[in-house]
Amino acid sequence: MVVLKSEAEIATLREAGRIVATTLAAVASAARPGVRLIELDELAAELIASGGAKPSFLNYHPSWAPIPYPGVLCLSVNDDVVHGIPGQRELAEGDLLSIDCGAYVDGYHGDSAITIPIGRVDQAALRLSDATAEALAAGIAAARVGARIGDISYAVESVARAAGYGLPDGLGGHGVGTAMHEEPSVPNTGKPNQGLPLREGLVIAIEPMLIEGGGSRCRTLADGWTIATADGSRAAHFEHTIAVTADGPVVLTAP
Ligand code: MG
Ligand code: MG
Repeated sequence: MVVLKSEAEIATLREAGRIVATTLAAVASAARPGVRLIELDELAAELIASGGAKPSFLNYHPSWAPIPYPGVLCLSVNDDVVHGIPGQRELAEGDLLSIDCGAYVDGYHGDSAITIPIGRVDQAALRLSDATAEALAAGIAAARVGARIGDISYAVESVARAAGYGLPDGLGGHGVGTAMHEEPSVPNTGKPNQGLPLREGLVIAIEPMLIEGGGSRCRTLADGWTIATADGSRAAHFEHTIAVTADGPVVLTAP
């Protein structure tokens, strides 16, 4: 069931989104060669708590996962696409790091992700990351009253395909509210003018993940959570939680 949000609910979602944005910015500036992923996770835990929020991902346990999610952030490096568990791995010069953060305030969630270069990275990594951010911007721009979910999917997919990148099978965006993941699903591939009509008060996370080389196949690692590309190609991931309003899309996880 798709639940439309009131203005008061959107204000609370914006507060959760603000804490997510602040946390992402701080984690991004702390991420450099030699830093361990677990240290970034600890930083995020402190920032979310000091903002009066709670982490959305920690102990999240969907039916398909063998264990509850053990981190505050999802930190996915290079060929890891999403859901990388923060552990003892040290970031290295040239890594491409995706940081995904969720937090909730008064029961309402914010969910956002960015991809950043660690130290100096090659041009191909920057191009991949830029295209993924561009796909997100196109998806957000399509999220207008009167359009449909398929218009968002098509906008995201068009940017990815035009740049020569693949999109992972079965991974995409979702509704956001009192649950971090609720209806509707927001696929990263689709056709215009199809799917749920977008109405005022719809709150969704749009989250393109783009893969170098144009592939789409992924695999789940032995930890039960990390999803990596099947062929080792690198991936990038950007995400915002947005509200569809009469005045156009409003990004709730903007800094
Ligand atoms: Mg996310
Ligand atoms: Mg999400």
